[in-house]
Amino acid sequence: MSAADRHVSVLILGGGTAGITVAARLRRADSRLGIAIVEPSKDHYYQPLWTLVGAGVFPLSASRRREADYIPPGVDWIQDRVAAIHPAENAVTTAGGERITYDWLIVALGIQINWTAIPGLAEGIGSHGICSNYSAKHVDYTWECIRGFKG
Ligand SMILES: Cc1cc2nc3c(=O)[nH]c(=O)nc-3n(C[C@H](O)[C@H](O)[C@H](O)COP(=O)(O)OP(=O)(O)OC[C@H]3O[C@@H](n4cnc5c(N)ncnc54)[C@H](O)[C@@H]3O)c2cc1C
Repeated sequence: MSAADRHVSVLILGGGTAGITVAARLRRADSRLGIAIVEPSKDHYYQPLWTLVGAGVFPLSASRRREADYIPPGVDWIQDRVAAIHPAENAVTTAGGERITYDWLIVALGIQINWTAIPGLAEGIGSHGICSNYSAKHVDYTWECIRGFKG
C-alpha cells in the first residue's frame, strides 16, 4: 500500500438502491465498521417510479433525490467512478486516479442496458414511437407516445 492509498474495511461500488441499502444494514449491525461508497452521481433515482412516469402520473423529477441525503450517517461517500478493480491486490482505482484498498468489496453497480443488441434500437429509441421506461433519458417519451396514440 502506498502513502497515497486510502483503506476501508468495506468498500461498496455503486450508491444505487443496493449499495445504499447494504451500507445502511452493515452500519446498523456494527457502527465501528469503516465503510465507503464509490458513486459518481449527485442524483439518486427511485427507478420503480418510472413505471408511473411513463404512464403520466408523476414527472421524472419526483423520482430524483439528492444522493447526499441517502448516504447513511458514518459512511464515506467517494464521489468518483470506478475505473478498475485489482482483485489480487484488494484494490480499486477510480477515474479520478484514487487508489482504494479494502478488506471486503461489494459490487453494486446496477445494470447497463445493451440497446445496441437489437439493430436499429439504439438509433431509434426516443423517436418513431419507440419508447422504454427503463431509462431516465427516454421515460418521458413513453407518456408522449401514450398521449399521442390514436389507435
Ligand atoms: C421502470 C422500472 C420499474 C421497476 N420496478 C421495480 C419494482 O416494482 N420492484 C423492484 O424491486 N424493482 C423494480 N425495478 C428495479 C429496481 O429499480 C432495481 O432493481 C434497483 O434500482 C437496482 O438497484 P442497484 O443498486 O442494483 O442498481 P441502481 O439503482 O441502478 O444503482 C447502480 C449505481 O451504480 C452507479 N455506477 C454505475 N457505474 C459506476 C461506476 N463505474 N463507478 C461507480 N458507480 C457506478 C450508478 O450511478 C448507480 O447509482 C424497476 C426498474 C425500472 C427501470
